[in-house]
This record gives sequence, C-alpha cells and structure tokens, in this order.
Amino acid sequence: MNRTKIEWTHYTWNPVTGCLNTCWYCYVRRMEEKYGYSRLPQFHEDRLQAPRTARPGSRILVCSTADLFAPWIPDEWITRVREVVLTRSDVTFQFLTKFPERYARWGWPWYCWLGTTVESPEHVDRLEALARLPNLRFVSFEPLLDDVAPGLQAGMMAQLKWIIIGAITGGRREAYLPHRTWITGLIEVADRAGTSVFLKDNLRRLWNGPLRQEYPEPLYPGRLSRLEESALCDIPHTVSNHKEGEDGQIFE
Ligand code: SF4
Repeated sequence: MNRTKIEWTHYTWNPVTGCLNTCWYCYVRRMEEKYGYSRLPQFHEDRLQAPRTARPGSRILVCSTADLFAPWIPDEWITRVREVVLTRSDVTFQFLTKFPERYARWGWPWYCWLGTTVESPEHVDRLEALARLPNLRFVSFEPLLDDVAPGLQAGMMAQLKWIIIGAITGGRREAYLPHRTWITGLIEVADRAGTSVFLKDNLRRLWNGPLRQEYPEPLYPGRLSRLEESALCDIPHTVSNHKEGEDGQIFE
C-alpha cells in the first residue's frame, strides 16, 4: 500500500490490478505503454493484508488501477478483499466502480464509502444502483466530459453525500478541459441538495480562486436508521515497489 498524490485519499491499495474496460481516456493504458503495466486482471495475494497496518483514521482508495466490481472480477476476489476490510473499522475504505449494481451482492460496513464514476449524461443511470445502498454514497465526475447536471433527475443528488469533479489527466488534457458551466451546474445542484463538493487540483487551470475541497460527514452506526443498520453487515471492532503516474495514480 502506498501514499498517493490523489488529493481526496491517503493511500491506494491494489490487491487487484488490471482493467478490461475500454475508456478512451484511460491513464492505465498510458502506463501500460510507458511501464509495461498489464491490463489483465490479477489478484495479488502478497498485497492483501496491507491495510492491517494502516494508520487509524486514514482513507484508503481500493483498487486505483482496476474496477473491482466489473463483471470479469471473480466473486472470490471481492470476498477476500472484503474479509480484510472487515478487520479495520477505524479506517475509511473508498471504492469506485462503473458497475455499482454489483455492490449489493455483499454487505459493506458503514466505514466503506461506495462510489461510481459518471463522465457524461449517458452514465447517469449508474446513480440508481447506488441509491439502494445504505453506505455513504459518492460520485466521481472525473473526467467530466460533458454537461451532466441537466440530466440529473430530481432527488438524484440528494442521495449522495459527496461529489468529486475533475478533468482528464495526461497529454490530451487541454483538448478536453470541462466547460466551467458544466462544473458550476453540478455545484449548484449539489448545494441545493447539501452534498459536499471536491474539486480536483487539475481544474485550477480554469478556476479562479480557491478550489472547494470538502469532505462528507462520515456515517456512524448510531446515526443510521434501523433499516439502514440492518442492511449493513456485522462488523468485528477492532500499507512495495511502485511507479507513480500522472495525477498521483499508483502502479504497483
Ligand atoms: S475503468 Fe479506469 S482503469 Fe479501467 S479502462 Fe477505464 S479509466 Fe482505465
């Protein structure tokens, strides 16, 4: 497990690497060309226990170079990752996937933040799968490639505690900078819903003044409704060599 430059987390933990998604803006693909990083999904037994030594209170992004909930990831890999997650209720685990409907096959404890990526309006429907989960839910609008705010149905933002907005990273960034109005549109909807907003550093080029970099108020079991608590699993109470890519992504 490694410290990372990704602004909204402390560590990346990559017990699974490799991604078969075909995002044209993929930074992993660029790292594949540069460092020989493999896109084939792999499970790394030797990294599995790394969170056991994480500093209490830290945030850990799980799988920064893979999509852990993608259909090609075996259930067993996710179950093994979850077993380690269950040993550290004093740490925040942050998950991001393009397949949020698969989260529900496992119960995720309250200290897991479950997120999905929405780059453009045609992916807004990913929010529907998130809405059914009792955890802290968030969306990463990164890279923001289009005007998403008008396509958000009433109430969609209200079910989110946190949104992250960022631009594409790497060589093509100038050509695909989001329009400022796309960002302000999302912020307006978030403010009406009481959702925290985190603007990534790569927006500085088009942003005058300080970037809003807020974090959500964490959930705690005592603040959940009985229904929500029953949907969460029982929790037992109780960090290699790497290359760092653009925007602080870690490639182990
Ligand atoms: S999901 Fe992430 S790692 Fe996978 S292809 Fe898309 S950008 Fe690359």
